[in-house]
Order: sequence, then structure tokens, then C-alpha cells
Amino acid sequence: MYRKRIAILGSTGSIGTQALQVIESHPDRFEVIALSTYQNIQLILEQARKFSVKKISVVNSNVLDGISIDHSEFDVDTGYESLIQIASMDNVDMVLVAVVGIAGLQATIAALESGKDVALANKETLVVGGDLVMETARRFGKRIIPVDSEHSAIFQCLNTASGHQEVKRIILTASGGPFRGYNRESLKRVTVSDALKHPNWSMGKKITIDSATLMNKGLEVIEAKWLFDVEIDKIQVVVHPQSIIHSMVEFTDGSIIAQLGRPDMRLPILYALSYPERFSSDYGGLDFFEIGKLTFEEPDVENFPCLPLAYKAARIGGTMPTVLNAANEVAVQKFLQEEISFMEIPIFIEKAMKSHKVIQQPKIDDILSVDKEVREFLS
Ligand code: MG
Repeated sequence: MYRKRIAILGSTGSIGTQALQVIESHPDRFEVIALSTYQNIQLILEQARKFSVKKISVVNSNVLDGISIDHSEFDVDTGYESLIQIASMDNVDMVLVAVVGIAGLQATIAALESGKDVALANKETLVVGGDLVMETARRFGKRIIPVDSEHSAIFQCLNTASGHQEVKRIILTASGGPFRGYNRESLKRVTVSDALKHPNWSMGKKITIDSATLMNKGLEVIEAKWLFDVEIDKIQVVVHPQSIIHSMVEFTDGSIIAQLGRPDMRLPILYALSYPERFSSDYGGLDFFEIGKLTFEEPDVENFPCLPLAYKAARIGGTMPTVLNAANEVAVQKFLQEEISFMEIPIFIEKAMKSHKVIQQPKIDDILSVDKEVREFLS
């Protein structure tokens, strides 16, 4: 049987390690060709040995100091260039982009331009460069298959018709994060460790804080706009604390199709890697009697202003989502280091957005320089 040849950018992170678990359970369907890490050298070497991978990228070359690598066993390259190199290797069918940060944008474009489908798990790519990335995918006839659970759900809902269909509304579900239902007073007192306790999903630190502020949902709204080519006002966020419905699509005939499953990231990872097929797994499945009920609420946009800020950035367009994203990253970092409070995160972001002069239809260099400027301005 043909095995899909996969390169994983960011193999030592949360998505990367889970992707390798998925691949491990389907050894006859997938083959790992290349792996990359920012600096987790021990883990990547372990992964490379386990999956017989020769090609490795280690972005931060400093971690290689004092480490002896057998070059007959591994072919190691360093720097961001090595990420791009792996994204464009000839003997790869699909690139899983699971790196954190804006490096994902360049890697995604490189993968598309060299004729690969991309399984996309990097938020920044579509938030900052949605227009550019989707245009590149169209130009090269390649697909971007979302890995994020909500976008995977929408993608699956849209794949149910074989002919023409029109979307009326996309309903993006949100767990509401650890502070759902909190009022202003209690939000003022929340700590870093409170914010790092996500009720349903186990994820990296940055995205866990983003879930607590609802910025994660805001970024997902922007991603959905590009990925599914829908107007921003047709995307509605619905808080669904059980995280069982991963998102829904309402069509113009009035039907709503939802995708359900257990909150386990391996499920959307498997779908992205196996698409257009479905492979078997034991990650999903629901006991409806045990779940009992599914509930829905309106998001609290008063106390969680990051969500309306994301809508605002998306409406303004151009480089504004880049500003939103960069300012949020700086703010989250400052919050994690206890330099600013939880409630200061959106204030921080709004300040950056207010002082920005938008460039419409930015090129990749515009995006990268705005990203850099905002970080410098805020730090
Ligand atoms: Mg998500």
C-alpha cells in the first residue's frame, strides 16, 4: 500500500508529538520523512530514531553545542532556512506545519510553492497571511487541510455535499476557557496558574492563555474567514462548555451540520493526515447517556474584549491582524512573566492596534516587518 510521505515541522511540540502517535498507529499508511524542532534536541533525536528519519532541522543551532551527532545516521540542518528546506523536500507529499509563531507562514508558503498539501496547525499563518496563503494554494493547486479541531470540524461539515452548496453561517464553538462566567472583579484577581488550567483540552501554554482570554477564538474566526472564504460577519462564536460539538455549518436551506467527537487532538490530526480518506482509530466515539446534555451560551464580549478586538482587526484587514497577533503574543508573554495582569492583555493589544497604520494587501515582507515593529514597540 502507498504510504503518504510526511514532513513534520514542530515535531517536539504538543501537535507534533500527537501527530507521531497517530502515525505510529498507522505504520502502513504513513511514512515520516523529516522532522523539525526549535530546540528540543533530545526528543527530536529520539523521534528520528524511532521513525527512521534521517532529515532533521534544529532551528536554534546553539543547542547543538557540545552534542555529537552521527552524521551517517542523521542529516541535521539549522536555522529558519532549514525549516523552509524541509517544507520543500522533493520526496514529501504532505507537510504538517505545527511550529509556533510567524515562521509557520514562510514554511507554509514554501510547502505550497513546491507542490505539497499542507496540514496546518499553525495559527499565525492564516491570521497574518490568509490572503497570501490561500492565493498561493490556489495558484499551485494545493490544499490546506486544517488541524485545529474547530476548523477540521467545519472542513468536515463542508465536505458532506458533492455538488453546489451555500453557507449561511459558520458556528464556531468555544469552550469558554477556565474563566467562563467570571465577572470583572474576579477576572482582576486571576493568576497565571489559574489561566493555565484549561477545562477540556491539553495544549501548550500560549494557546491555553489565549483560550482563557478568548483570543484563541478570535484568531480562529480570522482563520475560518480565509480557510472557508466566508465573510467575517457570517462567522458566529457560540460557547459550548462540553467541547463535544467541535463546530457547525448552517447552509442556506436551513440545515445545520455539526461535527462531534471527544476533545482529543489526535482526531483532527488523523483526519488531516488521512484526508480525503478516513482511517480507523479509537480516539473518538461518544457515550451520549454519559454526556447527558450539551449546552450553549453567548460569549461574554464585555469581560473578554479580545474576541471583539479580533473581529475588529479582521474587518479592518490588511496588516491589522498581524498587529493583533504580535501584540497578543507580547502581552501573553508579559502575563506569563507576571509583568501585566490578565485584564491588561486586551488593553495592551488595543493600544498597538490604535497606533498602527494599515497596509492593505500586504506582501510577506510587509507582514514580517509589521510583526517586528509591533514587538519592538511593545517590549
Ligand atoms: Mg481550536
